Amino acid sequence: MTDISRLIQLQKYFRSGATRSVSFRKAQLRQLKSAILQHEEEIYEALAKDLKKSKEESWVTEIGLVIAELNTAIRHLHTWMQPEKVKTNLVNFPSKSRIYAEPLGVVLIIAPWNYPFQLLLNPLVGAIAAGNVVVLKPSEFAPATASVMEKIITEIFPEEYILYIQGEGAAVLQPMMQDFRFDHIFYTGSTTVGRHIYKMAADKLVPVTLELGGKSPCIIEADANLKVAARRIAIAKFSNAGQMCVAPDYVLIHESVKEEFLQQLKIVIEKFFTKDPLHSYNYGKIINEKQFNRIQQYVASGTVVHGGRYDKEKLYIEPTILTGVKISDPVMQEEIFGPVLPVIGFQDKEEALNIIQQNPNPLSLYIYASGSNTIHYWLQNIPAGGVCVNNSSWHITNHHLPFGGRGNSGIGQYHGRFSFDTFSHRKAVMKTPTWFDPAIKYPPFKGKLKLFKKIIK
Ligand code: NAD
Repeated sequence: MTDISRLIQLQKYFRSGATRSVSFRKAQLRQLKSAILQHEEEIYEALAKDLKKSKEESWVTEIGLVIAELNTAIRHLHTWMQPEKVKTNLVNFPSKSRIYAEPLGVVLIIAPWNYPFQLLLNPLVGAIAAGNVVVLKPSEFAPATASVMEKIITEIFPEEYILYIQGEGAAVLQPMMQDFRFDHIFYTGSTTVGRHIYKMAADKLVPVTLELGGKSPCIIEADANLKVAARRIAIAKFSNAGQMCVAPDYVLIHESVKEEFLQQLKIVIEKFFTKDPLHSYNYGKIINEKQFNRIQQYVASGTVVHGGRYDKEKLYIEPTILTGVKISDPVMQEEIFGPVLPVIGFQDKEEALNIIQQNPNPLSLYIYASGSNTIHYWLQNIPAGGVCVNNSSWHITNHHLPFGGRGNSGIGQYHGRFSFDTFSHRKAVMKTPTWFDPAIKYPPFKGKLKLFKKIIK
């Protein structure tokens, strides 16, 4: 069967109404949950093979996140699906108004390699909960995880409901996007490919959610708790060897506390990943040689004050701190997406603001400070996808918060209820009874202007 006839089969299945009922959706979510738990060991093995993730890290950042998302959806689905009652304005009296959550149809979910499990299956939870049929496209660069997920998905779902396709992104997806109109595309990955997908989607007026990358700054003010900052920045920056979309990309620190922070940071890096991170249980590897070469070039951009060692064969780059980088260097112009952390001193807020504004609308912003005025200043002055105050990256694990970027870092949001909304259309429905049908609404209109102005304002 060709890819296009498979997609048409999905569309037919959706149009049959099979995915609509709450019982169907819940059953699929429960099935997905139990299949994931059944294959838990294989998922750990795959994530270790692709990215050298430990079991603990894999649970916290991949499997556990999906299980939590599933539990939330199973628990709240019935409520989410209820039509929302809203008020009706005077001119439409005595109508009643509701907003119905309507499934979108055939949705395409495209995932990257850095959190290959959760970035494919978390959006899937929202898509199933909202009653859609789905095409799943994992990243070809995390092949072990892609094949375990294929096993899980094809074991429990027929392909006219959830279709799992593998292969090189452009080769597999472009013909599909050209010859078939998806009802929604949910893409996570680089801004460059995201832009390309947006253009292709625009051609058929397909709505998109784009979860992209960028440079997420970390600001440390003079009144910050430096010990805590060092721990929270180090774990967020160096877990998964820095290959995290919400990792602190670089640190802007008040010059007066820079040296002290650097000392603290070096101490915690050794504590978390030992003096030999290559052999640390807690430290990952770079996904492939292409990414290794790209990240390794950044190391030469400034003065290495910690780390700097690498081993190409093992795809290893040590947690590395750089100082003395120039803002015009590639390391400060491109998303680093690896374990290299430039630390740049600033004297006043304006100087720091100018640096951040070179890459506006970051996916995340991290503010380390005590004074509420200072925190307020940064919250007000940097438009960003999301923010942590005195923390880094953990906001994405709170499903009560929407997750997504803005501008260059993305379009749309998901997680928890926000995922259900992303994969639903909010259909406005007004029901008007027939017992009241005032003549004022019909011609002749002459002379009614005064009354209209009273009613419609
Ligand atoms: P990638 O190369 O694996 O690409 C992502 C997906 O796009 C893959 O499934 C790939 O097959 C597909 N693809 C590639 N080219 C395509 C094309 N021309 N047409 C259609 N599909 C295509 O991953 P990546 O892009 O290297 O991922 C890293 C980037 O993703 C970083 O910039 C990172 O910040 C970002 N990211 C963002 C988030 C987020 O939630 N905002 C999460 C993780 C990663």
